[in-house]
Amino acid sequence: MTDSVKNMEQESANETLPERRNFIREIIDVDLKANKYERKVHTRFPPEPNGYLHIGHAKSICLNFGIANDYKGMCNLRFDDTNPSKEEVEYVESIQQDVRWLGFDWDDRLFYASDYFEKLCGFAIRLIQKGKAYVCDLSADEIRQYRGTLTEPGKESPYRNRTVEENLDLFQRMRSGEFPDGSRTLRAKIDMASPNLNLRDPVMYRILRSTHHRTGDSWCIYPTYDWAHGQSDSIEGITHSICTLEFEIHRPLYDWFLNALEIHHPRQIEFARLNLTYTVMSKRKLLELVEEQRVNGWDDPRMPTISGLRRRGYTPESIRLFADRIGVSKNESMIDVALLEDCLRSDLNKRASRVMAVLHPLKIVIENYPDERVEELEAVNNPEDPAMGVRKIPFSKIIYIEQDDFQENPPKKYFRLSPGMEVRLRYAYIIKCVDVVKDEKSGKVVELRCTYDPETKSGSSQSGRKVKGTIHWVSALHAVNAEVRLYDRLFNVENPNDDNWKECINPNSVEVLRDCKIEPGLAAAKPQDRFQFERLGYFCVDDDSKTSALVFNRAVTLRDTWLKMQKT
Ligand code: ATP
Ligand code: MG
Repeated sequence: MTDSVKNMEQESANETLPERRNFIREIIDVDLKANKYERKVHTRFPPEPNGYLHIGHAKSICLNFGIANDYKGMCNLRFDDTNPSKEEVEYVESIQQDVRWLGFDWDDRLFYASDYFEKLCGFAIRLIQKGKAYVCDLSADEIRQYRGTLTEPGKESPYRNRTVEENLDLFQRMRSGEFPDGSRTLRAKIDMASPNLNLRDPVMYRILRSTHHRTGDSWCIYPTYDWAHGQSDSIEGITHSICTLEFEIHRPLYDWFLNALEIHHPRQIEFARLNLTYTVMSKRKLLELVEEQRVNGWDDPRMPTISGLRRRGYTPESIRLFADRIGVSKNESMIDVALLEDCLRSDLNKRASRVMAVLHPLKIVIENYPDERVEELEAVNNPEDPAMGVRKIPFSKIIYIEQDDFQENPPKKYFRLSPGMEVRLRYAYIIKCVDVVKDEKSGKVVELRCTYDPETKSGSSQSGRKVKGTIHWVSALHAVNAEVRLYDRLFNVENPNDDNWKECINPNSVEVLRDCKIEPGLAAAKPQDRFQFERLGYFCVDDDSKTSALVFNRAVTLRDTWLKMQKT
Protein backbone atom coordinates (compact mmCIF):
# COMPACT_ATOMS: atom_id res chain seq x y z
CA MET A 1 0.00 0.00 0.00
CA THR A 2 1.40 3.42 -0.86
CA ASP A 3 1.55 6.03 1.82
CA SER A 4 -0.97 8.25 0.15
CA VAL A 5 -3.52 5.43 -0.12
CA LYS A 6 -2.93 4.55 3.50
CA ASN A 7 -3.28 8.16 4.41
CA MET A 8 -6.62 8.44 2.65
CA GLU A 9 -7.89 5.39 4.47
CA GLN A 10 -6.85 6.83 7.76
CA GLU A 11 -8.42 10.17 7.10
CA SER A 12 -11.66 8.57 6.05
CA ALA A 13 -11.79 6.70 9.37
CA ASN A 14 -13.16 9.77 11.01
CA GLU A 15 -15.48 10.75 8.21
CA THR A 16 -17.17 7.37 7.85
CA LEU A 17 -17.98 7.23 11.55
CA PRO A 18 -19.61 10.59 12.24
CA GLU A 19 -21.10 9.31 15.51
CA ARG A 20 -17.60 8.74 16.81
CA ARG A 21 -16.22 12.07 15.72
CA ASN A 22 -14.65 13.91 18.64
CA PHE A 23 -11.97 16.46 19.43
CA ILE A 24 -9.31 13.77 19.87
CA ARG A 25 -9.92 12.40 16.39
CA GLU A 26 -9.77 15.92 15.05
CA ILE A 27 -6.32 16.38 16.58
CA ILE A 28 -5.20 13.06 15.09
CA ASP A 29 -6.55 14.09 11.68
CA VAL A 30 -4.50 17.29 11.83
CA ASP A 31 -1.37 15.30 12.79
CA LEU A 32 -1.92 12.88 9.92
CA LYS A 33 -2.36 15.71 7.45
CA ALA A 34 0.88 17.25 8.72
CA ASN A 35 2.67 13.89 8.28
CA LYS A 36 3.50 13.75 11.97
CA TYR A 37 4.68 10.42 13.43
CA GLU A 38 5.16 9.02 9.90
CA ARG A 39 1.36 9.11 9.64
CA LYS A 40 1.01 6.38 12.22
CA VAL A 41 -1.55 6.16 14.98
CA HIS A 42 -0.41 4.17 18.00
CA THR A 43 -2.31 4.37 21.28
CA ARG A 44 -2.26 2.38 24.51
CA PHE A 45 -4.47 1.57 27.45
CA PRO A 46 -2.33 1.84 30.61
CA PRO A 47 -4.11 0.46 33.70
CA GLU A 48 -2.47 0.24 37.08
CA PRO A 49 -3.08 -3.36 38.24
CA ASN A 50 -4.46 -2.36 41.62
CA GLY A 51 -8.12 -3.22 41.14
CA TYR A 52 -10.67 -4.52 38.67
CA LEU A 53 -11.63 -2.41 35.68
CA HIS A 54 -14.84 -0.40 35.81
CA ILE A 55 -17.14 1.24 33.30
CA GLY A 56 -14.97 4.38 33.37
CA HIS A 57 -12.03 2.30 32.18
CA ALA A 58 -14.32 0.88 29.50
CA LYS A 59 -14.73 4.40 28.15
CA SER A 60 -10.94 4.72 27.93
CA ILE A 61 -10.56 1.23 26.39
CA CYS A 62 -13.19 1.91 23.73
CA LEU A 63 -11.54 5.24 22.99
CA ASN A 64 -7.96 3.96 22.70
CA PHE A 65 -8.66 0.66 20.95
CA GLY A 66 -11.48 2.22 18.93
CA ILE A 67 -9.21 4.92 17.53
CA ALA A 68 -6.51 2.35 16.72
CA ASN A 69 -9.07 0.15 14.93
CA ASP A 70 -10.68 2.95 12.97
CA TYR A 71 -7.36 4.49 11.88
CA LYS A 72 -5.81 1.09 11.15
CA GLY A 73 -3.24 1.79 13.83
CA MET A 74 -2.28 -0.16 16.92
CA CYS A 75 -3.16 -0.08 20.58
CA ASN A 76 -0.98 -1.59 23.31
CA LEU A 77 -2.08 -2.93 26.64
CA ARG A 78 0.42 -1.78 29.23
CA PHE A 79 0.33 -2.41 32.93
CA ASP A 80 1.61 0.62 34.76
CA ASP A 81 3.01 -1.50 37.55
CA THR A 82 5.41 0.90 39.23
CA ASN A 83 3.85 0.63 42.69
CA PRO A 84 4.76 -2.83 44.03
CA SER A 85 2.83 -2.70 47.30
CA LYS A 86 -0.68 -2.39 45.88
CA GLU A 87 -0.49 -4.60 42.85
CA GLU A 88 -1.57 -8.17 42.41
CA VAL A 89 -1.50 -10.85 39.77
CA GLU A 90 -5.24 -11.38 40.17
CA TYR A 91 -5.80 -7.86 38.87
CA VAL A 92 -3.44 -8.36 35.93
CA GLU A 93 -5.43 -11.38 34.84
CA SER A 94 -8.86 -9.86 35.33
CA ILE A 95 -7.86 -6.76 33.36
CA GLN A 96 -6.77 -8.83 30.36
CA GLN A 97 -9.95 -10.87 30.49
CA ASP A 98 -12.09 -7.72 30.64
CA VAL A 99 -10.37 -5.97 27.73
CA ARG A 100 -10.72 -9.11 25.59
CA TRP A 101 -14.32 -9.54 26.60
CA LEU A 102 -15.05 -5.97 25.51
CA GLY A 103 -13.94 -7.10 22.07
CA PHE A 104 -10.44 -5.65 21.79
CA ASP A 105 -7.12 -7.23 21.02
CA TRP A 106 -3.57 -6.08 21.69
CA ASP A 107 -2.03 -8.86 19.55
CA ASP A 108 1.50 -9.41 20.86
CA ARG A 109 1.70 -5.97 22.44
CA LEU A 110 1.18 -6.74 26.10
CA PHE A 111 3.68 -4.69 28.09
CA TYR A 112 4.57 -3.85 31.65
CA ALA A 113 6.18 -0.65 32.87
CA SER A 114 8.29 -2.96 35.04
CA ASP A 115 9.86 -4.32 31.83
CA TYR A 116 11.38 -0.88 31.43
CA PHE A 117 12.93 -0.59 34.91
CA GLU A 118 16.44 -1.10 33.51
CA LYS A 119 15.87 1.35 30.66
CA LEU A 120 14.36 3.92 32.99
CA CYS A 121 17.39 3.60 35.22
CA GLY A 122 19.58 4.30 32.20
CA PHE A 123 17.47 7.37 31.37
CA ALA A 124 17.88 8.55 34.95
CA ILE A 125 21.65 8.24 34.70
CA ARG A 126 21.53 10.23 31.48
CA LEU A 127 19.69 13.04 33.30
CA ILE A 128 22.21 12.95 36.15
CA GLN A 129 25.04 13.22 33.63
CA LYS A 130 23.36 16.24 32.07
CA GLY A 131 23.10 17.85 35.50
CA LYS A 132 19.31 17.53 35.38
CA ALA A 133 18.78 15.15 38.30
CA TYR A 134 20.23 14.81 41.78
CA VAL A 135 20.18 12.55 44.81
CA CYS A 136 18.41 14.24 47.72
CA ASP A 137 18.66 13.24 51.38
CA LEU A 138 15.54 15.05 52.55
CA SER A 139 12.81 12.85 54.05
CA ALA A 140 9.38 12.64 52.42
CA ASP A 141 8.05 15.08 55.02
CA GLU A 142 10.86 17.53 54.44
CA ILE A 143 10.37 17.36 50.69
CA ARG A 144 6.75 18.26 51.26
CA GLN A 145 7.69 21.19 53.49
CA TYR A 146 10.25 22.49 51.02
CA ARG A 147 7.77 22.23 48.20
CA GLY A 148 5.87 25.44 48.93
CA THR A 149 2.24 26.01 47.98
CA LEU A 150 0.24 27.37 45.08
CA THR A 151 0.85 30.90 46.43
CA GLU A 152 4.39 30.49 47.79
CA PRO A 153 7.46 29.33 45.90
CA GLY A 154 9.32 26.27 47.17
CA LYS A 155 12.76 26.16 48.78
CA GLU A 156 15.72 24.49 47.12
CA SER A 157 17.03 21.32 48.69
CA PRO A 158 20.46 21.67 50.33
CA TYR A 159 21.52 18.62 48.26
CA ARG A 160 20.50 20.19 44.96
CA ASN A 161 23.98 21.20 43.89
CA ARG A 162 25.83 17.94 44.34
CA THR A 163 28.31 17.20 41.59
CA VAL A 164 27.48 14.86 38.74
CA GLU A 165 30.07 12.38 40.06
CA GLU A 166 28.63 12.38 43.56
CA ASN A 167 25.09 11.94 42.20
CA LEU A 168 26.14 9.07 39.94
CA ASP A 169 27.86 7.37 42.87
CA LEU A 170 24.96 7.87 45.30
CA PHE A 171 22.34 6.77 42.79
CA GLN A 172 24.33 3.63 42.07
CA ARG A 173 24.51 2.90 45.79
CA MET A 174 20.76 3.59 46.21
CA ARG A 175 20.17 0.97 43.60
CA SER A 176 22.53 -1.57 45.12
CA GLY A 177 20.76 -1.38 48.47
CA GLU A 178 23.23 0.54 50.64
CA PHE A 179 20.65 2.91 52.14
CA PRO A 180 17.53 2.32 54.17
CA ASP A 181 13.99 2.77 52.80
CA GLY A 182 12.93 6.37 52.44
CA SER A 183 16.37 7.80 53.25
CA ARG A 184 17.16 9.19 49.82
CA THR A 185 15.42 10.01 46.54
CA LEU A 186 16.45 10.86 43.04
CA ARG A 187 14.86 14.13 41.97
CA ALA A 188 14.66 16.03 38.71
CA LYS A 189 16.36 19.41 38.88
CA ILE A 190 13.79 21.74 37.39
CA ASP A 191 12.46 24.83 39.17
CA MET A 192 11.44 25.17 42.81
CA ALA A 193 9.71 28.46 42.01
CA SER A 194 7.57 27.13 39.16
CA PRO A 195 3.87 28.00 39.48
CA ASN A 196 3.23 24.38 38.51
CA LEU A 197 3.98 22.30 41.62
CA ASN A 198 4.72 19.27 39.49
CA LEU A 199 7.84 21.03 38.24
CA ARG A 200 9.29 21.72 41.70
CA ASP A 201 12.03 19.10 41.54
CA PRO A 202 9.71 16.05 41.47
CA VAL A 203 10.86 12.73 42.86
CA MET A 204 11.84 10.16 40.21
CA TYR A 205 13.00 7.29 42.45
CA ARG A 206 12.33 6.26 46.02
CA ILE A 207 14.00 3.52 48.05
CA LEU A 208 11.47 0.84 48.91
CA ARG A 209 12.11 -2.77 49.81
CA SER A 210 8.96 -4.36 48.55
CA THR A 211 8.46 -7.47 46.47
CA HIS A 212 7.15 -6.69 43.00
CA HIS A 213 4.74 -9.08 41.29
CA ARG A 214 7.05 -9.42 38.30
CA THR A 215 10.55 -8.33 39.25
CA GLY A 216 10.48 -9.97 42.68
CA ASP A 217 13.16 -8.55 44.98
CA SER A 218 15.61 -7.52 42.29
CA TRP A 219 14.90 -3.83 42.83
CA CYS A 220 14.92 -1.74 45.98
CA ILE A 221 14.37 1.55 44.15
CA TYR A 222 11.12 2.10 42.28
CA PRO A 223 10.28 4.84 39.75
CA THR A 224 7.40 7.18 40.50
CA TYR A 225 4.40 7.12 38.20
CA ASP A 226 5.27 10.57 36.86
CA TRP A 227 8.75 9.45 35.93
CA ALA A 228 7.79 6.10 34.44
CA HIS A 229 4.65 6.99 32.55
CA GLY A 230 5.78 9.32 29.80
CA GLN A 231 9.03 7.42 29.18
CA SER A 232 7.10 4.14 28.88
CA ASP A 233 4.89 5.74 26.22
CA SER A 234 8.00 6.96 24.45
CA ILE A 235 9.73 3.56 24.56
CA GLU A 236 6.67 1.97 22.96
CA GLY A 237 6.54 4.57 20.19
CA ILE A 238 3.09 5.75 21.24
CA THR A 239 1.96 8.62 19.02
CA HIS A 240 -1.06 9.84 20.98
CA SER A 241 -1.07 9.40 24.77
CA ILE A 242 -4.72 9.74 25.66
CA CYS A 243 -5.42 10.23 29.36
CA THR A 244 -7.90 11.80 31.74
CA LEU A 245 -7.99 15.50 32.63
CA GLU A 246 -6.18 15.27 35.96
CA PHE A 247 -2.97 14.69 33.99
CA GLU A 248 -3.21 17.97 32.13
CA ILE A 249 -1.25 19.68 34.92
CA HIS A 250 1.42 16.93 34.70
CA ARG A 251 1.95 17.42 30.99
CA PRO A 252 4.62 20.14 31.36
CA LEU A 253 6.63 17.71 33.48
CA TYR A 254 6.23 14.86 30.96
CA ASP A 255 7.30 17.25 28.21
CA TRP A 256 10.31 18.35 30.27
CA PHE A 257 11.51 14.74 30.78
CA LEU A 258 11.11 13.85 27.10
CA ASN A 259 12.85 17.01 25.93
CA ALA A 260 15.69 16.59 28.42
CA LEU A 261 16.22 13.00 27.28
CA GLU A 262 15.76 13.88 23.60
CA ILE A 263 13.67 10.78 22.89
CA HIS A 264 10.48 10.10 20.91
CA HIS A 265 7.80 12.53 22.09
CA PRO A 266 4.18 11.35 22.02
CA ARG A 267 1.42 13.95 22.02
CA GLN A 268 -0.63 13.82 25.20
CA ILE A 269 -4.37 14.56 24.91
CA GLU A 270 -6.62 14.75 27.96
CA PHE A 271 -10.36 14.03 28.16
CA ALA A 272 -12.95 14.12 30.94
CA ARG A 273 -13.42 10.95 32.93
CA LEU A 274 -16.76 9.22 33.08
CA ASN A 275 -18.91 9.72 36.16
CA LEU A 276 -22.11 7.74 36.49
CA THR A 277 -25.10 8.41 38.75
CA TYR A 278 -25.92 6.16 41.72
CA THR A 279 -22.51 4.55 41.85
CA VAL A 280 -18.88 5.16 42.80
CA MET A 281 -16.02 4.72 40.39
CA SER A 282 -12.82 5.19 42.36
CA LYS A 283 -10.88 1.97 42.73
CA ARG A 284 -10.18 2.80 46.36
CA LYS A 285 -13.90 2.94 47.10
CA LEU A 286 -14.69 -0.15 45.08
CA LEU A 287 -11.97 -2.00 47.01
CA GLU A 288 -13.53 -0.85 50.28
CA LEU A 289 -16.93 -2.19 49.21
CA VAL A 290 -15.31 -5.54 48.45
CA GLU A 291 -13.10 -5.74 51.54
CA GLU A 292 -15.88 -4.74 53.91
CA GLN A 293 -18.15 -7.28 52.22
CA ARG A 294 -20.78 -4.72 51.41
CA VAL A 295 -20.98 -6.50 48.05
CA ASN A 296 -20.11 -10.07 47.14
CA GLY A 297 -16.78 -9.45 45.46
CA TRP A 298 -15.54 -7.40 42.53
CA ASP A 299 -17.95 -9.13 40.17
CA ASP A 300 -21.06 -8.57 42.24
CA PRO A 301 -23.75 -7.72 39.67
CA ARG A 302 -24.40 -4.41 41.46
CA MET A 303 -20.83 -3.22 40.96
CA PRO A 304 -19.91 -0.81 38.13
CA THR A 305 -16.95 -3.07 37.34
CA ILE A 306 -16.77 -4.69 33.94
CA SER A 307 -16.86 -8.11 35.60
CA GLY A 308 -19.90 -7.05 37.63
CA LEU A 309 -21.69 -5.72 34.56
CA ARG A 310 -20.84 -8.91 32.67
CA ARG A 311 -22.25 -11.06 35.44
CA ARG A 312 -25.31 -8.84 35.61
CA GLY A 313 -26.00 -9.54 31.93
CA TYR A 314 -24.41 -6.63 30.09
CA THR A 315 -23.05 -7.44 26.65
CA PRO A 316 -19.79 -6.06 25.20
CA GLU A 317 -21.89 -4.56 22.40
CA SER A 318 -24.06 -2.63 24.86
CA ILE A 319 -21.02 -1.18 26.61
CA ARG A 320 -19.40 -0.18 23.33
CA LEU A 321 -22.68 1.43 22.27
CA PHE A 322 -22.69 3.33 25.57
CA ALA A 323 -19.14 4.56 24.96
CA ASP A 324 -20.17 5.80 21.50
CA ARG A 325 -23.27 7.51 22.82
CA ILE A 326 -21.57 9.39 25.66
CA GLY A 327 -18.71 10.53 23.41
CA VAL A 328 -15.60 12.31 24.67
CA SER A 329 -15.15 15.88 25.81
CA LYS A 330 -13.05 18.16 28.00
CA ASN A 331 -15.92 18.91 30.40
CA GLU A 332 -16.52 16.91 33.56
CA SER A 333 -20.07 15.64 33.64
CA MET A 334 -22.27 13.08 35.31
CA ILE A 335 -23.95 10.54 33.03
CA ASP A 336 -27.34 9.14 34.02
CA VAL A 337 -27.05 5.38 34.61
CA ALA A 338 -30.40 5.10 32.79
CA LEU A 339 -28.46 5.76 29.57
CA LEU A 340 -26.28 2.71 30.22
CA GLU A 341 -29.36 0.60 30.95
CA ASP A 342 -30.97 1.81 27.78
CA CYS A 343 -27.97 0.70 25.72
CA LEU A 344 -28.38 -2.80 27.11
CA ARG A 345 -32.10 -2.81 26.35
CA SER A 346 -31.57 -1.76 22.78
CA ASP A 347 -28.92 -4.46 22.27
CA LEU A 348 -30.82 -7.30 23.94
CA ASN A 349 -34.08 -6.30 22.33
CA LYS A 350 -32.54 -7.32 19.02
CA ARG A 351 -30.85 -10.48 20.23
CA ALA A 352 -32.38 -12.02 23.34
CA SER A 353 -34.79 -14.95 23.04
CA ARG A 354 -38.15 -14.33 24.61
CA VAL A 355 -39.22 -16.91 27.16
CA MET A 356 -41.86 -17.20 29.84
CA ALA A 357 -40.95 -17.24 33.51
CA VAL A 358 -43.04 -16.75 36.63
CA LEU A 359 -41.27 -15.05 39.51
CA HIS A 360 -44.06 -15.09 42.14
CA PRO A 361 -46.05 -18.21 41.25
CA LEU A 362 -49.78 -18.61 41.76
CA LYS A 363 -51.15 -22.05 40.89
CA ILE A 364 -54.10 -22.43 38.50
CA VAL A 365 -56.04 -25.64 37.93
CA ILE A 366 -57.93 -25.65 34.61
CA GLU A 367 -60.93 -27.74 35.58
CA ASN A 368 -62.19 -28.64 32.11
CA TYR A 369 -58.75 -29.49 30.67
CA PRO A 370 -58.14 -33.26 30.41
CA ASP A 371 -55.95 -34.54 33.29
CA GLU A 372 -53.24 -36.29 31.31
CA ARG A 373 -53.19 -34.06 28.26
CA VAL A 374 -50.08 -32.11 27.23
CA GLU A 375 -50.12 -29.83 24.19
CA GLU A 376 -47.02 -28.47 22.52
CA LEU A 377 -47.79 -24.86 21.62
CA GLU A 378 -45.79 -22.76 19.23
CA ALA A 379 -44.11 -19.62 20.54
CA VAL A 380 -42.11 -16.94 18.73
CA ASN A 381 -38.50 -16.58 19.89
CA ASN A 382 -38.05 -12.96 18.97
CA PRO A 383 -40.64 -10.80 17.22
CA GLU A 384 -37.79 -8.36 16.34
CA ASP A 385 -35.96 -11.07 14.41
CA PRO A 386 -38.00 -13.69 12.52
CA ALA A 387 -34.77 -15.57 11.75
CA MET A 388 -34.65 -16.61 15.39
CA GLY A 389 -37.59 -18.89 14.66
CA VAL A 390 -40.10 -20.54 16.93
CA ARG A 391 -40.12 -23.09 19.75
CA LYS A 392 -42.60 -25.44 21.38
CA ILE A 393 -43.79 -24.90 24.92
CA PRO A 394 -45.86 -27.45 26.86
CA PHE A 395 -49.34 -26.63 28.14
CA SER A 396 -51.20 -28.77 30.68
CA LYS A 397 -53.95 -28.77 33.27
CA ILE A 398 -51.98 -27.08 36.04
CA ILE A 399 -50.08 -23.88 35.35
CA TYR A 400 -48.48 -21.00 37.22
CA ILE A 401 -49.13 -17.32 36.66
CA GLU A 402 -47.75 -14.27 38.48
CA GLN A 403 -49.48 -13.48 41.75
CA ASP A 404 -50.04 -9.90 40.68
CA ASP A 405 -51.77 -10.97 37.49
CA PHE A 406 -54.75 -11.84 39.70
CA GLN A 407 -56.82 -9.53 41.90
CA GLU A 408 -59.84 -10.63 43.84
CA ASN A 409 -61.30 -7.13 43.96
CA PRO A 410 -59.82 -5.47 40.91
CA PRO A 411 -59.89 -1.72 40.30
CA LYS A 412 -61.56 -0.43 37.13
CA LYS A 413 -59.61 -1.13 33.94
CA TYR A 414 -57.79 -4.09 35.43
CA PHE A 415 -57.50 -6.33 32.42
CA ARG A 416 -55.78 -9.28 34.00
CA LEU A 417 -57.45 -12.11 35.92
CA SER A 418 -60.18 -11.69 38.55
CA PRO A 419 -63.20 -13.76 39.65
CA GLY A 420 -65.61 -14.34 36.75
CA MET A 421 -63.33 -12.54 34.29
CA GLU A 422 -61.36 -13.79 31.30
CA VAL A 423 -57.77 -13.35 30.24
CA ARG A 424 -55.66 -14.77 27.41
CA LEU A 425 -52.73 -17.00 28.25
CA ARG A 426 -49.91 -16.03 25.87
CA TYR A 427 -49.61 -18.55 22.97
CA ALA A 428 -52.45 -20.62 24.50
CA TYR A 429 -56.12 -20.20 25.38
CA ILE A 430 -58.54 -17.81 26.97
CA ILE A 431 -59.28 -18.85 30.55
CA LYS A 432 -61.91 -17.71 33.02
CA CYS A 433 -61.55 -17.65 36.80
CA VAL A 434 -64.38 -19.62 38.40
CA ASP A 435 -63.18 -20.06 41.99
CA VAL A 436 -60.59 -18.77 44.42
CA VAL A 437 -58.96 -21.08 46.97
CA LYS A 438 -57.56 -19.43 50.11
CA ASP A 439 -55.43 -20.53 52.96
CA GLU A 440 -57.83 -20.96 55.89
CA LYS A 441 -55.59 -19.32 58.43
CA SER A 442 -54.01 -16.45 56.54
CA GLY A 443 -56.75 -15.78 54.02
CA LYS A 444 -54.09 -15.62 51.33
CA VAL A 445 -55.05 -16.74 47.80
CA VAL A 446 -53.19 -20.01 47.18
CA GLU A 447 -54.87 -21.38 44.08
CA LEU A 448 -57.31 -20.41 41.35
CA ARG A 449 -59.76 -22.69 39.63
CA CYS A 450 -60.34 -21.74 36.02
CA THR A 451 -61.96 -23.08 32.87
CA TYR A 452 -60.54 -22.72 29.39
CA ASP A 453 -62.30 -22.10 26.09
CA PRO A 454 -61.01 -24.80 23.67
CA GLU A 455 -62.14 -22.65 20.72
CA THR A 456 -59.59 -19.93 21.44
CA LYS A 457 -56.24 -21.59 20.82
CA SER A 458 -53.67 -19.00 19.71
CA GLY A 459 -52.75 -19.17 16.06
CA SER A 460 -55.67 -21.45 15.16
CA SER A 461 -58.38 -20.38 12.75
CA GLN A 462 -60.99 -20.00 15.50
CA SER A 463 -58.84 -17.99 17.81
CA GLY A 464 -60.50 -14.74 16.77
CA ARG A 465 -62.28 -13.95 20.02
CA LYS A 466 -60.58 -11.08 21.79
CA VAL A 467 -60.08 -10.24 25.45
CA LYS A 468 -58.29 -7.21 26.76
CA GLY A 469 -55.51 -8.79 28.76
CA THR A 470 -52.76 -11.31 27.93
CA ILE A 471 -50.59 -12.79 30.66
CA HIS A 472 -47.64 -15.17 30.75
CA TRP A 473 -47.64 -18.59 32.40
CA VAL A 474 -45.65 -21.79 32.81
CA SER A 475 -46.89 -25.39 32.88
CA ALA A 476 -46.47 -26.69 36.45
CA LEU A 477 -45.59 -30.22 35.44
CA HIS A 478 -42.85 -29.05 33.10
CA ALA A 479 -41.52 -25.95 34.83
CA VAL A 480 -37.88 -25.68 35.84
CA ASN A 481 -37.22 -24.22 39.27
CA ALA A 482 -34.88 -21.30 39.48
CA GLU A 483 -33.61 -18.62 41.77
CA VAL A 484 -33.95 -15.09 40.46
CA ARG A 485 -32.08 -12.08 41.80
CA LEU A 486 -33.56 -8.65 41.24
CA TYR A 487 -31.26 -5.67 41.58
CA ASP A 488 -31.70 -2.06 42.41
CA ARG A 489 -29.19 0.76 42.56
CA LEU A 490 -26.29 0.28 44.93
CA PHE A 491 -26.63 3.82 46.28
CA ASN A 492 -29.63 5.91 47.25
CA VAL A 493 -28.26 9.20 46.02
CA GLU A 494 -27.19 10.34 42.58
CA ASN A 495 -23.67 11.32 43.57
CA PRO A 496 -22.45 9.34 46.59
CA ASN A 497 -19.06 10.96 46.59
CA ASP A 498 -18.73 12.93 49.79
CA ASP A 499 -17.21 11.65 53.04
CA ASN A 500 -20.29 9.79 54.18
CA TRP A 501 -20.70 7.94 50.87
CA LYS A 502 -21.05 4.60 52.64
CA GLU A 503 -24.12 5.82 54.50
CA CYS A 504 -25.81 6.20 51.13
CA ILE A 505 -25.63 2.50 50.31
CA ASN A 506 -29.09 1.22 49.38
CA PRO A 507 -29.93 -1.53 51.91
CA ASN A 508 -32.40 -3.07 49.46
CA SER A 509 -30.24 -3.31 46.38
CA VAL A 510 -30.91 -7.02 45.88
CA GLU A 511 -34.03 -9.13 46.26
CA VAL A 512 -33.67 -12.90 45.99
CA LEU A 513 -36.63 -14.97 44.81
CA ARG A 514 -36.09 -18.69 45.37
CA ASP A 515 -39.23 -20.30 43.98
CA CYS A 516 -39.42 -19.12 40.41
CA LYS A 517 -40.83 -21.24 37.59
CA ILE A 518 -39.22 -21.12 34.17
CA GLU A 519 -40.26 -22.71 30.90
CA PRO A 520 -38.52 -26.09 30.45
CA GLY A 521 -36.39 -25.14 27.44
CA LEU A 522 -34.13 -23.21 29.81
CA ALA A 523 -33.14 -26.25 31.88
CA ALA A 524 -29.81 -26.44 30.07
CA ALA A 525 -29.08 -22.71 30.05
CA LYS A 526 -25.47 -21.81 30.77
CA PRO A 527 -23.87 -18.92 32.66
CA GLN A 528 -23.95 -15.76 30.55
CA ASP A 529 -26.95 -16.92 28.48
CA ARG A 530 -29.35 -14.00 28.26
CA PHE A 531 -33.11 -13.97 27.79
CA GLN A 532 -36.04 -11.66 27.86
CA PHE A 533 -38.54 -12.97 30.39
CA GLU A 534 -41.72 -11.70 28.80
CA ARG A 535 -43.13 -8.66 30.60
CA LEU A 536 -40.41 -8.84 33.28
CA GLY A 537 -37.12 -7.71 31.82
CA TYR A 538 -33.83 -9.09 30.56
CA PHE A 539 -32.18 -11.83 32.60
CA CYS A 540 -28.80 -13.48 32.54
CA VAL A 541 -27.78 -16.87 33.90
CA ASP A 542 -25.49 -16.30 36.89
CA ASP A 543 -22.13 -17.99 37.38
CA ASP A 544 -23.52 -19.59 40.53
CA SER A 545 -25.52 -21.88 38.23
CA LYS A 546 -22.35 -23.90 37.74
CA THR A 547 -22.60 -25.25 41.26
CA SER A 548 -26.28 -25.05 42.18
CA ALA A 549 -29.70 -24.91 40.59
CA LEU A 550 -30.36 -22.33 37.91
CA VAL A 551 -29.81 -18.76 39.07
CA PHE A 552 -30.78 -15.74 36.99
CA ASN A 553 -29.82 -12.10 37.45
CA ARG A 554 -32.14 -9.43 36.22
CA ALA A 555 -29.89 -7.32 34.03
CA VAL A 556 -32.43 -4.60 33.38
CA THR A 557 -36.19 -4.07 33.40
CA LEU A 558 -38.03 -3.71 30.13
CA ARG A 559 -38.20 0.04 30.42
CA ASP A 560 -36.99 2.55 32.90
CA THR A 561 -39.35 1.97 35.81
CA TRP A 562 -37.60 4.69 37.80
CA LEU A 563 -38.36 7.24 35.15
CA LYS A 564 -41.96 6.15 35.20
CA MET A 565 -42.17 6.42 38.97
CA GLN A 566 -40.77 9.90 38.93
CA LYS A 567 -43.31 11.04 36.37
CA THR A 568 -46.40 9.77 38.17
P1 ATP B 1 -8.83 5.38 40.07
O1 ATP B 1 -8.62 6.87 40.15
O2 ATP B 1 -10.23 4.93 40.24
O3 ATP B 1 -7.86 4.59 40.90
P2 ATP B 1 -7.15 5.34 37.81
O4 ATP B 1 -7.37 6.42 36.83
O5 ATP B 1 -6.00 5.52 38.71
O6 ATP B 1 -8.50 5.03 38.56
P3 ATP B 1 -5.85 3.52 36.09
O7 ATP B 1 -5.69 2.05 36.24
O8 ATP B 1 -4.65 4.36 36.22
O9 ATP B 1 -6.97 3.95 37.10
O10 ATP B 1 -6.60 3.83 34.74
C1 ATP B 1 -6.21 3.34 33.49
C2 ATP B 1 -6.72 4.26 32.43
O11 ATP B 1 -8.14 4.38 32.52
C3 ATP B 1 -6.15 5.63 32.59
O12 ATP B 1 -5.70 6.08 31.32
C4 ATP B 1 -7.28 6.46 33.11
O13 ATP B 1 -7.16 7.77 32.64
C5 ATP B 1 -8.50 5.75 32.55
N1 ATP B 1 -9.66 5.93 33.43
C6 ATP B 1 -9.75 5.64 34.74
N2 ATP B 1 -10.94 5.99 35.23
C7 ATP B 1 -11.65 6.53 34.21
C8 ATP B 1 -12.95 7.10 34.07
N3 ATP B 1 -13.79 7.18 35.11
N4 ATP B 1 -13.33 7.53 32.85
C9 ATP B 1 -12.50 7.44 31.81
N5 ATP B 1 -11.27 6.93 31.86
C10 ATP B 1 -10.83 6.48 33.04
MG1 MG C 1 -4.09 6.02 37.62
